[in-house]
Amino acid sequence: MKKLPVCKTCLDTLCYSCQERYDQGYVTQFDMDLAKDLLDFEEGDFPELKTASFYNAIDVGDIVFLVVGIGDTIKFSPELLLKIQDLYLIPNIVIIEKSSVKEMIQELISPEILLGVNQIYLPTMESEYRINISDPEGAIRERGNIGSHRIPLESLEKACSLMIRGITKVSFS
Ligand SMILES: [Zn+2]
Repeated sequence: MKKLPVCKTCLDTLCYSCQERYDQGYVTQFDMDLAKDLLDFEEGDFPELKTASFYNAIDVGDIVFLVVGIGDTIKFSPELLLKIQDLYLIPNIVIIEKSSVKEMIQELISPEILLGVNQIYLPTMESEYRINISDPEGAIRERGNIGSHRIPLESLEKACSLMIRGITKVSFS
């Protein structure tokens, strides 16, 4: 694997910066377990993983999104995904290639339309993303889920936060 959610040497004992991201919730136990599995798999039946990157997993109930490197989708073959699904009892896995915040959020909520992403700097020096989604008739809010993956609205902010590793607030207009 080229890149993993934590440094390769951190899979057993986290370094300071990985520990910090773990404490903030941006790296999960599942990320680390899966990272270890992928390293095992590349030594076994999936040597193509040697040049692949895995950034993080976003667990949204019945679906897990895996953020992978640009052009790496093909390396996460159907056989590999089935293996992961069996191992962790995940009904669906959706692969998203790492790209800009805007592009990843758009993919998450597709075919709904993302109107804008703003990164706001708070007085505490932290930043937060405000994302605005088109819903002029209120249909999404009425339905309670979003996009072709039917992400429950109550999970949306968390899913976005994990995906882009930053606090995210969602609004509709
Ligand atoms: Zn580390």
